[in-house]
Amino acid sequence: MTRILISADMEGATGVTWPADCLPGTPEWERCRPLFTSDVNAAIAGFLDGGADEVLVNEAHMTMRNLLLEQLDDRAEMLTGRHKALSMVEGVQRGDVDGIAFVGYHTGAGDEGVLAHTYLGNSLTGVFVDGVRASEGLLNALVSAEYGTPVVLVTGDDRTCADARGYAPDAETVAVKDYVSRYAAVCRTPARTAADIRAAAARAAPSAVRHDPAEPRPRTVEVEFDAEHLAGAATVVPGVEQTGPRRVAYTAPDMYEGIRCFKAVTTLVSAAVEEWYG
Ligand SMILES: [Zn+2]
Repeated sequence: MTRILISADMEGATGVTWPADCLPGTPEWERCRPLFTSDVNAAIAGFLDGGADEVLVNEAHMTMRNLLLEQLDDRAEMLTGRHKALSMVEGVQRGDVDGIAFVGYHTGAGDEGVLAHTYLGNSLTGVFVDGVRASEGLLNALVSAEYGTPVVLVTGDDRTCADARGYAPDAETVAVKDYVSRYAAVCRTPARTAADIRAAAARAAPSAVRHDPAEPRPRTVEVEFDAEHLAGAATVVPGVEQTGPRRVAYTAPDMYEGIRCFKAVTTLVSAAVEEWYG
């Protein structure tokens, strides 16, 4: 029995290159939802081609209500909506997920890449785990490792694929577009990217084999903002200390707590961002 979890984010989906494309409620977002669903369907089909038995899709973008259930491959199930203990990788804590796929991912805050950011669309200029700059992919890979679940497939722009080679060197990667600027990319059509994703997921399926859970160990997470008041806002979270004018840090006993504290920090900070001045 091979179980796959797909963590589906939208910034790295086929054809998505600027904020409105993935901002719920806009006409551009409506147009891009089928493109995003197509990427996810291609991954589902590929994993099942490759021998997987079950696929659960966890919506991981903003409101977590973007994919079109009515167009989803019938053989998969979808977890949609917000407020989940592990957010983007909700489900991995069940401990029975043999492989996880990051579909539609993107690079982290402060890096090159289409729509690069880490949780917050702006205001945050870098996240570091034990001194290493971290993307959402790296953060979620560290969480998944604590449950013995390897990352087997990553899709997004070409910079996202390069980033994945750092945290999941054995994963299959598919670049659905090539970075030109934060809001521009050379895109391939959904027919082409679906074929590429399906083939990569089929190749990745046999490597979905759970390993021993990574030994939980304390992790120091540092977060850097673009304005000093945001660092002050973040310190409301117990254990979060200001370490510089625009920087905070905390140490969590493991990545499960590390990612949950990060979520608390970003939620609080987003409430402190003013519309024009940040
Ligand atoms: Zn997103």
